[in-house]
Amino acid sequence: MAVIGFIGLGNMGAPMAANLVKAGHRVTGYDVSAGALQALASAGVLPAGSAAEAARGADVVITMLPAGEHVREVWLHQGGLIDVVKGTGPLLIDCSTIDVESARTVTEAARVAGLEMLDAPVSGGVGGATAASLTFMVGGSEAAFARGLPLLQAMGKNIVLAGGPGAGQAAKICNNMMLAINMVGVSEGFLLARKLGLDWDKLFQIASTSSGQSWALSNYCPAPGPVPAAPSNRDYAAGFMAALMLKDVKLSQAAADAVGSPTPLATLAMSFYQSVVDAGDGGKDFSVVFRWLETQQRQ
Ligand code: NAD
Repeated sequence: MAVIGFIGLGNMGAPMAANLVKAGHRVTGYDVSAGALQALASAGVLPAGSAAEAARGADVVITMLPAGEHVREVWLHQGGLIDVVKGTGPLLIDCSTIDVESARTVTEAARVAGLEMLDAPVSGGVGGATAASLTFMVGGSEAAFARGLPLLQAMGKNIVLAGGPGAGQAAKICNNMMLAINMVGVSEGFLLARKLGLDWDKLFQIASTSSGQSWALSNYCPAPGPVPAAPSNRDYAAGFMAALMLKDVKLSQAAADAVGSPTPLATLAMSFYQSVVDAGDGGKDFSVVFRWLETQQRQ
């Protein structure tokens, strides 16, 4: 049994922390949202009054926060977690999706403090987090990876050491750039199908077993109906918020700019998710891009 501090108990962090409890670990959690913290009491996660309280005395400290600014704030600010746990030697794991630069900065600060850290962003959505079947893409040393592996296995199924510090984040932004484009593609297919008089269930039955198949189609079909558990059937309640998807595509575009890699479709997809957020739907699941596209006129 490991003693774990878990900070950030939102859509993803909550089921991940619950799975660590199920695997027999002692988990103390903290979230700035009191509601998020209370909701986890029934899952056996012990509530802390601050991130520092959750981290103190832990063997492993995990963060699952929205973006790079939150991760830097929680780990690095004065009295931040690296200061708090310095000298006690826990393994640090950040599972948030953030920019490669922030990941490397925090990892370097940890190294200077004598601590090992992994960037370990995930894929698989809330369903994967709940079923403990997430994919983890990990950046860090082999020794730190070996230390973290048993815990990651309690939350996920496919756990890959992608390379050194920041490599997990690099893999994640490439993955999500593909997903962002994919979701737009599936949305366009279903909208065209309707105009052509096709039944959405029939299209799903065909495309999900044909070459049009994708994770976006099979799990988060943006057209309501064919996939009962998809956010499209509950007014696009997240799931994975459009604002977070916009953040990730922006990260991919900043990285592509930095290295001069061509991403014309991602640039276009980014403008769509920006429109979704501007229209006030940033808190909805990213598959709501379907509803936004529906309102567009063909040019
Ligand atoms: P979320 O907004 O539901 O959860 C984030 C939580 O962090 C919230 O509960 C928030 O209150 C808390 N928080 C923010 N600042 C804090 C602070 N300073 N101290 C403590 N708690 C703080 O987001 P999510 O969907 O759980 O996503 C978390 C991360 O995982 C993001 O980086 C996202 O891009 C990534 N991700 C999400 C999904 C998904 O399907 N939702 C899938 C893969 C990766």
